[in-house]
Amino acid sequence: MLTIPDYRLRLPGPTAVPEPIRQATALPVLNHRGAEFRAMLAECHQRLKPIFGTAHDVLTFAGSGTAMMEAALANILSPGDAVLVVVAGQFGERFVAIAKAFGAEVHALDVEWGGALDADRVAARLRQRAYRAVVMVHNESSTGVAYDVAAVGAVVRDTPALLIVDSVSGLAGVEMKMDAWGADIVVSASQKSLMCPPGLGLAAISAKAWQAIGRDGRMPCFFADFRRARASLDKDGTSFTPPVTLVYGLLVALRMIDAEGLANVLARHDRLASALRAGVQALGLALYNQPSTSSATVTAMKVPAGLDGGAIVRHMRERYRTVIAGARHPSQTGKVIRIGTMGMIGEADIITDLRHLEATLNDLGRPAEVPHAGVRAALDVLAARAQAPRTNKAADGEPS
Ligand code: PLP
Repeated sequence: MLTIPDYRLRLPGPTAVPEPIRQATALPVLNHRGAEFRAMLAECHQRLKPIFGTAHDVLTFAGSGTAMMEAALANILSPGDAVLVVVAGQFGERFVAIAKAFGAEVHALDVEWGGALDADRVAARLRQRAYRAVVMVHNESSTGVAYDVAAVGAVVRDTPALLIVDSVSGLAGVEMKMDAWGADIVVSASQKSLMCPPGLGLAAISAKAWQAIGRDGRMPCFFADFRRARASLDKDGTSFTPPVTLVYGLLVALRMIDAEGLANVLARHDRLASALRAGVQALGLALYNQPSTSSATVTAMKVPAGLDGGAIVRHMRERYRTVIAGARHPSQTGKVIRIGTMGMIGEADIITDLRHLEATLNDLGRPAEVPHAGVRAALDVLAARAQAPRTNKAADGEPS
């Protein structure tokens, strides 16, 4: 048998998997073409729609978030197409790399990392030339910023360009209203706010996007060809063997989200992230991003001068068994640490994070000016922001 370390997984994904989901993923594998599994898949697809904020198709694939970023571009690009990629962090850079790998003409719209995106800049670029797509990250995990997709959608919607959005670390933790906001393809993955193990990729697709996907002469694309996937979806199936047990897990996760209520889930993420931000700042760590842009699922903070982010992450893990993340980008190495506030977390997680962070800073020779100031600041936020009342629906993943 395997022995795995027992630590608190507090990364910005993958996130700790709640017990009902973990148990579901250990159930026996069913016939992936059988009626029972098809019914589960169909229920997942239906339950995902309100989370994406769409009435359109949601596709599931075996694969990670990056596979879905690639699939989104491969399915809409023809050779020589130009794309405008908003680059505000490492995952924007990844979109640039993927688009270049497919031979697209890539134009970057650089945004200061941690800063806000002015949608007028996108509008100005769209007036200068035609693009097949505007490509952006909803929730930039490298900087802890949630971007205003609605504002970008408003300027892209009435142009021929599609709006492609990575919401890998946003979906189900930060609001997504794909149809209302004018996003055309939104991709995500199972291991973040959806609380599942990694391995399932998701893509929701608008009617406008299907027109581009249906064109002849697209880039080569086979496994993640959305056209084939949609034909399979019509029969409540997938084109190729799906990760059957992950679909069980996703179904339980989606029932849990429904039991809590999506609005309550989003409010819980926002409240806990606010408390964590208040706490880390009270400990003397500045946020990496401008406060107005803060994400509800990832908190990125600057490491105080004279300390090394890698050492903080290491000490938190080795001494306090709390696993947080360091910098995502070489330019940030040692200077940034990040904590996830996504998935099935509660007040106790935030308080423990702050206790362990304070103790770590203390151990590394940087004691807090006011002991317990971080925990106190977080408790103040939690007290000031009432918790959403629990619904009376079952919260154990059973259908309600
Ligand atoms: N996009 C964002 C915003 C992410 O946070 C991540 C992963 O952390 C990815 C894309 C890539 O996802 P994956 O690691 O599942 O390929």
